[in-house]
Amino acid sequence: MTATDTPTAGATTRTAFRVPTHLPVIITIDGPAGTGKSTVARLLAHRLGLDFLDTGAMYRCAAAIMIDRGIDPEDVGELVSTVIGADLHFDWQTDPPMILAWDAPMDHRIRQPDVTAAVSKVAAIGELRNHMVRKQRVIAAQHPRLVTEGRDQGSVVFPDAEVKFYLDADPGIRAQRRDEQLREGGVEIDLETLKQQILERDRLDSTRADGPLICPDNAIRVDTSSIDLDGVVDLLEKHVRQRIGALVGGSGG
Ligand code: C5P
Repeated sequence: MTATDTPTAGATTRTAFRVPTHLPVIITIDGPAGTGKSTVARLLAHRLGLDFLDTGAMYRCAAAIMIDRGIDPEDVGELVSTVIGADLHFDWQTDPPMILAWDAPMDHRIRQPDVTAAVSKVAAIGELRNHMVRKQRVIAAQHPRLVTEGRDQGSVVFPDAEVKFYLDADPGIRAQRRDEQLREGGVEIDLETLKQQILERDRLDSTRADGPLICPDNAIRVDTSSIDLDGVVDLLEKHVRQRIGALVGGSGG
């Protein structure tokens, strides 16, 4: 069953709610680019006292490695073995956790336009996805209280997660949000081009054979088109409170 949600009563709840410290809990947030997933996941993790995993950063790192090392995109064997050799990992002391390859920070490199343009094709490589899925499960074993966001977190990587969300938004609004983000980083791309890039990334991410972008079973679907960031985090927190409350036997509300 998939629930659809809108910002209604209760969305403004601001009571500090911490997930009981003895409780392992995985919260997945999936959805297309520009829905605010990453920021929402980070803020939700803060509020709940959980760790935050940005799985897009891992695929972006693989794409950056391919470009920077001049690896032929068709040479899957070379790409996958180089990425495995890079030992992608996060520095959990930074906020948000910073991704490293060969122990060197990659956080600035992975947001650059050439990486964004290449990442979906790289992320469609089945062998690479297998490696990332294994790594993400190892990370969750080490950080069992986790908000993790991506495209396949609730469907493939953590199908038994305690709470699953799927965020969506109108493509025009997603392009505007991406524009604001890019401008903050000093990058300017016209809005229509951005929208087309987002739609193309959606198409590639949704049609690949391995781990395609879908709304996972039992996920709570949230359309963020007309909700601001705080509103989305409030809404997700409310759902987590209810689910975790039910799990630990309290009212949760
Ligand atoms: O979320 P972000 O825009 O950083 O993700 C970049 C790309 O990484 C996505 O467009 C998608 O191709 C890929 N990705 C994926 N599976 C994930 C996370 C990201 O395929 N779990």
